[in-house]
Amino acid sequence: MNINKPYDVIVIGTGAAGLMAAGQASIAGAKTFLLEKTDAPGKKLSITGKTRCNLTNTADLHAFIDHFGPEGRFLHQAFGQFFRNELLEFFNSIGVTSEAERGGRIFPSNGDAAFVTQQLYQWAQNNGVRCALHSPVEKLVVENGQITAVETRDEQIIPTKSVILCTGGSTFTGTGSTGDGYRMAQSVGHTIIPLRPALVPLKTAGPTAKQLQGLSLRNIKLSVFFDGKKKIEAFGEMLFTHFGISGPIVLTHSGAIVDAIRVGKQVNVSIDLKPALDEAKLDVRLLRELDQGGKQHFQTMLKRLLPAKMIAVCADLTNIPPDRLCHQITAQERKHLLNWLKDFKLDVIGPLSLETGMVTMGGVSLKEVDPKTMMSKIVDGLFFAGEVLDLAGDTGGFNLQAAWSTGWLAGQNAAAHALAIK
Ligand SMILES: Cc1cc2nc3c(=O)[nH]c(=O)nc-3n(C[C@H](O)[C@H](O)[C@H](O)COP(=O)(O)OP(=O)(O)OC[C@H]3O[C@@H](n4cnc5c(N)ncnc54)[C@H](O)[C@@H]3O)c2cc1C
Repeated sequence: MNINKPYDVIVIGTGAAGLMAAGQASIAGAKTFLLEKTDAPGKKLSITGKTRCNLTNTADLHAFIDHFGPEGRFLHQAFGQFFRNELLEFFNSIGVTSEAERGGRIFPSNGDAAFVTQQLYQWAQNNGVRCALHSPVEKLVVENGQITAVETRDEQIIPTKSVILCTGGSTFTGTGSTGDGYRMAQSVGHTIIPLRPALVPLKTAGPTAKQLQGLSLRNIKLSVFFDGKKKIEAFGEMLFTHFGISGPIVLTHSGAIVDAIRVGKQVNVSIDLKPALDEAKLDVRLLRELDQGGKQHFQTMLKRLLPAKMIAVCADLTNIPPDRLCHQITAQERKHLLNWLKDFKLDVIGPLSLETGMVTMGGVSLKEVDPKTMMSKIVDGLFFAGEVLDLAGDTGGFNLQAAWSTGWLAGQNAAAHALAIK
């Protein structure tokens, strides 16, 4: 590394935010250096969307912002300047065409996240960004409230007029996103909102989930109770794992559940396995099935109502012997079965771990960052973009759009800031 020449902009991290920020800063005329601690750019980006990269979403601006909860307001300015249409046009210009799928999710047409990373990295370099892999940044150097340099792990001081911190969150740490940026931001005076996992699988009490491990349920209704009060109702698909529950509707609501558990609330979920039938209609259906079942075993009849993996669990939790003949099932037992089908309960004991969340809630406090420029309100010349900020969106391409948009805005403004310094 050349330690003598000052850079206009140093970007830390080659994720979605860092690649976008570095390329934009360089195009805006800034001498830009992009530092990545791992041996390859965009390791997390290359595994997004099950390696297909859900780039963004077709949701309109208001709905889009709602997907980030109350913190979403912070994104108005960034989205106002560089949103989905600009993003897709940009990707088109670097050879990444895209297509919308179910749920408004937009993917590259070739479904290849590694290709997206490669094109972005190439684009940044083609536009004059100097890139260094194997280059972990350890420290931000601040003098008189102004960023002046970064210090690498091997103690090289690299002078610069501005820095964009794009170190990502603190999940899937094998990709390099180990939370370094939180520590660096805190050391120069920023507040870090406590880190929690979001879009994270949940652990449940007892052996039931393990017995159902691998089973995916579609078209169910999931109700979530905090201290016995219903707070969330969602329809869709969920999955049982050896430790608990996961799948789209569980992941989507996991952030709120994590926060409820954090403040000591008891959380349990109730699964309605037959949401299309109200109790009266389901009872009619059960009566018919039991009547037609006659001398069949209860477990045989259940095959017409439930996936095979659930039969033993159902018999166990309803206390109806699986070899009981259908015509011997009492009205009371039928009622138990009906209640269980409409209200299959599990106690949630916590998230799997921060590491296993798809995104990190918490991070650099948004109150200390100017949403118009992404510049720190504490350190002149320090900018932020991407997941290092206290922003966490739902699944569906929302998080990457936030990284692209904040990266774009930070790149433009860090360049302008540096070029204005004599
Ligand atoms: C499995 C998975 C799938 C996902 N799929 C999607 C999806 O399809 N769509 C979507 O919108 N979101 C998805 N997300 C979320 C999305 O990937 C992140 O929100 C997004 O990548 C954040 O981008 P970023 O640039 O802020 O950080 P990151 O992509 O995490 O990049 C941070 C970079 O900084 C580097 N770095 C860290 N510390 C240092 C240091 N000290 N010095 C130098 N470099 C450093 C890291 O090595 C890393 O390369 C997914 C997340 C996961 C885990």
